[in-house]
Amino acid sequence: MEIVPLPLLADNYGYLLIDPASKRAAIVDCSEAAPVLTEVERRGLRLEAVLSTHHHFDHVGGNEELARAIPGLRVLGSRAELNRVPALTEPLADGEEFEVIGVRGRALFIPAHTSDHVAYFFPNDGPSVFSGDTLFAAGCGRLFEGSPEQMMRSLGKLAALPDATQVWCGHEYTEKNLCFAHELEPTNRDISAKLERVRTQRGAGKATVPSTIGEEKRTNPFLRWESPDLCSTLRRRFPDLPAEPVAIFAKTRELKDQF
Ligand SMILES: [Zn+2]
Repeated sequence: MEIVPLPLLADNYGYLLIDPASKRAAIVDCSEAAPVLTEVERRGLRLEAVLSTHHHFDHVGGNEELARAIPGLRVLGSRAELNRVPALTEPLADGEEFEVIGVRGRALFIPAHTSDHVAYFFPNDGPSVFSGDTLFAAGCGRLFEGSPEQMMRSLGKLAALPDATQVWCGHEYTEKNLCFAHELEPTNRDISAKLERVRTQRGAGKATVPSTIGEEKRTNPFLRWESPDLCSTLRRRFPDLPAEPVAIFAKTRELKDQF
């Protein structure tokens, strides 16, 4: 399976999944139909399915138009909030397996950014996960419909995937996320090295995806509530902050909201 990031709207990514031999294709998160249809045509692909990570407009805004343009198009999404993903044809349960373009995948419910948020994990052929607005490179989504505890559980589910798993997230936020991470963990060399690399990539107009689960564990403050460096930065600034992981996580999220 070939994976092609498509920059959509201001800073969103849709991802074309392509079987190069048969030219069958699927798209993860279609915020707008026109650029997706153009790319499908340019590459001579047959678009069969849409995989929606959650119902926010900048992830599903193109679903209806795509479904009108391509009769029989499959639209996969979470069954948690059934009527929120437009044109949904295949509601998936947590852990449910599915197949698109001849490749097997698994739906993982990861609520908190929204209560219907789902990740798509493809275990074979170099594992990859599409994490939407839950896990970003060096960041996580805002808590619109969930608690810090719930987001920790959802992120923990993704962190439990193999370290080599490629992470394809919903937005290009990596550089700003790493600036924030660097403030919290100034002595973390993985963070400073990645920040430098990402600045070069962005300077050249390149995408910073994919990351990997292993890399996220080393650089993402929202997976690092046990990092002594991060905890001591927070405790220095907020001497009354409880030592519990959930308090560390919630304070990190709160600071990021203001960053
Ligand atoms: Zn969102």
